[in-house]
Amino acid sequence: MTRAIQIAANGGPEVLIPGSVSLGWPGPGQALVRIEAAGVNFIDTYHRTGLYGLALPFTPGVEGGGVVEAVGPEVTAVAPGDRVGWAMQLGSYAERALLAADRLIRLPEAVTTRQAAAAMLQGMTAHYLVRSTFRVQSGMPVLIHAAAGGMGLLLCQMCRALGARVFGTVSTEAKARAARAAGADHVIRYTEQDFAEAVREELGDEGLAVVYDSVGASTWRKSLDLLRRRGMLVLFGQASGPVPPIDPLELLKAGSVFVTRPTLADYVATPDELSWRAGEVLEKVASGAVRLTIDRELPLAEAEQAHRLLESRATSGKLLLIP
Ligand code: NDP
Repeated sequence: MTRAIQIAANGGPEVLIPGSVSLGWPGPGQALVRIEAAGVNFIDTYHRTGLYGLALPFTPGVEGGGVVEAVGPEVTAVAPGDRVGWAMQLGSYAERALLAADRLIRLPEAVTTRQAAAAMLQGMTAHYLVRSTFRVQSGMPVLIHAAAGGMGLLLCQMCRALGARVFGTVSTEAKARAARAAGADHVIRYTEQDFAEAVREELGDEGLAVVYDSVGASTWRKSLDLLRRRGMLVLFGQASGPVPPIDPLELLKAGSVFVTRPTLADYVATPDELSWRAGEVLEKVASGAVRLTIDRELPLAEAEQAHRLLESRATSGKLLLIP
């Protein structure tokens, strides 16, 4: 038996119940991992509420860092004693988990398992968003919503490193400071000020090359209108609620713009792409080129509180659960 958070019914944070589950021995292709830190992500809230339907009951959490304790038959990628990180593997809010061994990434010595739990999912997401979904280049004006969130702080750093002119939106002055420190050139308090007006004041008619919008319902429409001709709206989340269907003619009217709704799973689908992306992200963490901001660490049993903090906009950076 291992201690784990269980969800038996979809609902609010109160459905995250500490308990225990029986894991058994690793089967073919699996590794038994002792989890040292689990990353908390917005996707966990979509799993919890049922927005992304999963069969019940389940242990939530898709990201973490830990140590391999045992491997099943046919596993060659990792061995007992290896320190590893992972993303997009369900069951991470637990003391131990059975994980797909070929999706585990061995950590460089300079990266701790806690850093891995903070970097694997959001770091690889920021990487694919600025390198693959849209190639950010020097001098390009880009807008990042929720710029002081877990994703936002990483996107600001990566866009800045690529030489972009970074606009960021945040809700509070403390978050504005965090976004600036991460490399945002222009920070807009979108809860106080119309962000579209603020961007136009700076850019005039130029328009944005790309908008990284994970806020969704409350921002997508103005994000679309801010794009320059043939710009791209990257809708990669919906922290304020889902985006309604978009009429293709709206894209024509906005200047032959592109809209995409990407997910990490499609950008790490092959083992080669996963190891390339994870390798680049972990190397940036190890060298200090990307700084991780851990908002706070909570004991595993406080998963409910972690979700309340994330959903109430009270965090800036990453939340970790420590078993
Ligand atoms: P964050 O730390 O960014 O938290 C969400 C932030 O969204 C809040 O802090 C808040 O920032 C902002 N926000 C704006 N409106 C609301 C609202 N009504 N309710 C709650 N928050 C709001 O979370 P993550 O870094 O974990 O994730 C950010 C987004 O990225 C999520 O939408 C997530 O789904 C998405 N994502 C997508 C991936 C993909 O591959 N597609 C992978 C990883 C994450 P502020 O207070 O400044 O407004």
